[in-house]
Amino acid sequence: MHKATMLYRLQQVDLQIDRLSKQLAHLRSQLDEPASLVESKKEIATLQEQSRTLGAELLDAELAAKSLSNKIAKVEKALYGGRVSNPKEIASQQENVISMKKHLDVLEEKQLDLMLQSEQLEAQLQQLQRTLQAATAQWHDTLSRIIAETQVIESSLAQLQSQRQAEAIHIAPADLQLYQRIRSRKGGIAVAKLEDGRCSVCGISLPESKQHAVQYQDDFVFCGSCGRILSP
Ligand SMILES: [Zn+2]
Repeated sequence: MHKATMLYRLQQVDLQIDRLSKQLAHLRSQLDEPASLVESKKEIATLQEQSRTLGAELLDAELAAKSLSNKIAKVEKALYGGRVSNPKEIASQQENVISMKKHLDVLEEKQLDLMLQSEQLEAQLQQLQRTLQAATAQWHDTLSRIIAETQVIESSLAQLQSQRQAEAIHIAPADLQLYQRIRSRKGGIAVAKLEDGRCSVCGISLPESKQHAVQYQDDFVFCGSCGRILSP
């Protein structure tokens, strides 16, 4: 077989390898968890932290209200149980009860407010968690598809690599080097076909003598315009 034809066949394999390698790189770049999922998890963690803080505040308010209620009950029991008989003391304790009840009102209002905040936060959290769950399921489907596609491409690439080795074994090392050199400079295409008297890549018309040389000369003939090796 003509040297240039062998290189052309190698190039057909190399172009397929290039195409699949690009696809593989693109697929691998999609393997990271999407930013929207990462963000959504962060947002949920922040809200959960807020929810814990609110829960602790609510517990504190509940305990304070309970303790104050007990205190009020105790003072009232003493007042109305007749244990306090000094009128001054009675007046002072009654004032004390009024003041403690006012404080209790404030505490209970705070408790209510915290409960409301907590409910709103819980509702928001549940909504976000549902959204995250759906997005995660969708991401897992995408991931399975990417992994399946990756496996198909990897196996095709392995086949192409052995096909390349089988083709390259018949080509002289110096010819391979020349081919690689031109390929790296000329956008991956080192060999052009001679088609209807023209270079198949740059399209220039080739003189008759050159066309003849491509067909019958054993050495490489190059396109005068784009510098690629011409193959019959
Ligand atoms: Zn050309």
